[in-house]
Amino acid sequence: MSTLITNIGELTTNDERGTVSNAAVVLDRDRVAWVGPAAKAPDADTLVDAAGRAALPGWVDSHTHLVFAGDRTAEFAARMAGKPYTAGGIATTVNATRAATDDELRAVLRRHVDEAVSQGTTYLETKTGYGLTVEDEVRSARIAAEYVDEVTYLGAHLVPPGADAESYVELAAGPMLDAVAPYVRWADVFCETGAFDESQSRRVLQAATAHDLGLRVHGNQLGAGPGVRLAVELGAASVDHCTHLTKSDVDALAGFDTVATLLPACDLSTRQPLPDARALLDAGATVALATNCNPGSSYTSSMAFCVATAVLQMRMSVEEAVRAATLGGAKALRRNDIGVIRPGARADLHVLDAPSATHLAYRPGVPLTWAVWRSGLLVRPPR
Ligand SMILES: [Zn+2]
Repeated sequence: MSTLITNIGELTTNDERGTVSNAAVVLDRDRVAWVGPAAKAPDADTLVDAAGRAALPGWVDSHTHLVFAGDRTAEFAARMAGKPYTAGGIATTVNATRAATDDELRAVLRRHVDEAVSQGTTYLETKTGYGLTVEDEVRSARIAAEYVDEVTYLGAHLVPPGADAESYVELAAGPMLDAVAPYVRWADVFCETGAFDESQSRRVLQAATAHDLGLRVHGNQLGAGPGVRLAVELGAASVDHCTHLTKSDVDALAGFDTVATLLPACDLSTRQPLPDARALLDAGATVALATNCNPGSSYTSSMAFCVATAVLQMRMSVEEAVRAATLGGAKALRRNDIGVIRPGARADLHVLDAPSATHLAYRPGVPLTWAVWRSGLLVRPPR
């Protein structure tokens, strides 16, 4: 089954074609088969007329925490009323997650994945990290793998209440990692004051490398710290948050292929300053934008909101923000067949009910998704 989407007013390809006017795309099963001017498009089994609308690669959300149960509305309200954010609120979600059945966890995960996909997200990473026992971390990874494209082990999310930090690190870098590794591609650690320090983080990440897992780091969220330096040193694919960076952190990110993944919805929701995207981009670092969707610090699945925030408040151009939310996420996951529209890429296409991707920031908060194909399937039919 092939589909021709034609009369695309503005097509963002993220490859050497750049932005193409009056374009067409042919999807054949799960791959992009053809890209070019609408006037030269080949025939296909199904025809969709985009009538001048803009199209872009589906969003790549490279940072979410969607295996959870429970509710933290009251904690959010208290924070908005002036109570500070600390790393400890995670324990609330850990307790609810451990108490939930597998099917309860599946239902929450599926609901949020569907919510993201309906807004144009076509490739999703999610993390464990609300189990924090061997059994609950394995269960989280197993369930995550049923619904998302990439799964990350985040046993080192928080020292569980009542546990001793050193013996918990030994577990997270030892038997817990051994048990979860078969279900995941990545390992991550929350390297932050109140979570794991540099040497604890290093132990977990080095143990993950020994299991052939790719590395990701939560770093520099609540203050300057060793996260970025450690991520670059150990060759992590991405260091995420990057809210508080020194000049040497920026230089390190510009000099290596570790992606700086910015999570502006989280900074807004925790009343942190927004990251200095301009410094990173101007230095030549690769920047990704992701939601960090989780019930505590960033409860949105909207990549469009992150893009609009990046443009309106972080001085990124629309082109830079869209690229960071598509190709940047692909680089943060070390994939070269997503976040781009070219023959052979995965058939992930997002058509907006707008003539230009500029409307994502020009019309903030307005739902602009018109149609979504994910791996060639029409998951959101044209409205
Ligand atoms: Zn996170």
